[in-house]
Amino acid sequence: MGLFKQDVRCNRILNECKVMSTYNELTDIDIRNKNILIREDLNVPIKNNKIINDARIKAAIPTISYALSKGANVGIISHLGRPIEGKFDSKQSLKIVAERLSEILNKKVFFEEQPLDTKSPEYKNKLTLFENTRFLVGEKSGDEKLAKKIIKNCDVFVMDAFGASHRKHTSTYTVSKYVPVCCGGLLLMNEIKNIEKVLKNPSKPVLAIIGGSKVSTKLNILKKLTEKVDTIILGGGIANTFLLSSNLPIGKSLAEKNMVSDVKEILRLAKKNDVLIPLPKDVMCQSLTGIRNKNVNEVQKEDYIKDIGSKTSIIYEKLIEEAATILWNGPVGVFEDALFENGTKNIARSIGNTKALTIAGGGDTISAIEKFISMEKLDYVSTGGGAFLEFLEGKKLPGIEIIKKL
Ligand code: ADP
Ligand code: MG
Repeated sequence: MGLFKQDVRCNRILNECKVMSTYNELTDIDIRNKNILIREDLNVPIKNNKIINDARIKAAIPTISYALSKGANVGIISHLGRPIEGKFDSKQSLKIVAERLSEILNKKVFFEEQPLDTKSPEYKNKLTLFENTRFLVGEKSGDEKLAKKIIKNCDVFVMDAFGASHRKHTSTYTVSKYVPVCCGGLLLMNEIKNIEKVLKNPSKPVLAIIGGSKVSTKLNILKKLTEKVDTIILGGGIANTFLLSSNLPIGKSLAEKNMVSDVKEILRLAKKNDVLIPLPKDVMCQSLTGIRNKNVNEVQKEDYIKDIGSKTSIIYEKLIEEAATILWNGPVGVFEDALFENGTKNIARSIGNTKALTIAGGGDTISAIEKFISMEKLDYVSTGGGAFLEFLEGKKLPGIEIIKKL
């Protein structure tokens, strides 16, 4: 009887989920013998002709394997690096990615070198990776003619490149206008569901940790977070800009002076919404005379703030321990240098040990997580940097809008 009750409940929840789902998902579509084109983000770092981190290829595997297992003819498109449109550059060719993909899948991946503006995709090889979309003239401007060429012969377009979903490019957006069915792949849906978990009804208290060097882009997310979280802790260039706006000396440190009024607005919103933003009490400073942990009011003209200080680190650890949901973007110091890694290392370790729901995103944040703990220690690590922040901000991302149900 108990089992029966549970079944009824499960079915009801499943039905509710189906009704509530606002997205077209690959897993809801019959793709047997269909030509499907998957937009992945296979933009991996390459040095001396070697892929130095294949995490993005691995993240794409569930969608590709799923499509193959359902009997679809699969084509994959992606960008790589920042080549000049219309100009082939062997250093930014996806050929090396096709080889790695083939190794991981243990399956032949046909690599199509012919650019898609001269030869529309063919699906006869079962699994094909097409050359870098950023070699194509019109990719970045969302060109309609190019879109028609790319999407020719395609029955279903699968958007799976979360990391590129904030771009209104031909391969992430315009193609959707010319294909009968457009849906989200497994990776993209997973990203959306995990980030929404933090945005909608998270367990409280909710803590956000925002650091890094991209000050102006991250001030937007801070504004949004003052509506969503209980506490925000800061590091990196962002913390310096906050210190500056509180009339504290920051010497030669990275900061954005023209953002002081935005910071004041964030502090005003935080106060209004009862959000705690404890500024660092001390910082690690570097100057020609050496490195010193200083209280924030002792920073000198010639100092560069490179990390949070030891007292601040203890306060931040405590806040991490007390939180039930934690969102992390941006290292709190120049963690690449062992002299300034402590703040970020302590944050990573505390996050790795907490029972809270933990989610992080950002290229350098991921490097820090891999350096000091491991990705498995968190509940979810997003593959997106800019897209992760923009989605959190509540912006409409072009690559996600195209998979929304009408
Ligand atoms: P993410 O890629 O995770 O979004 P960002 O790109 O915004 O993060 O910032 C990461 C960079 O910020 C790192 O290279 C780190 O060295 C730098 N950084 C952190 N703190 C400071 C600081 N106090 N001064 C200068 N650079 C900093
Ligand atoms: Mg970065």
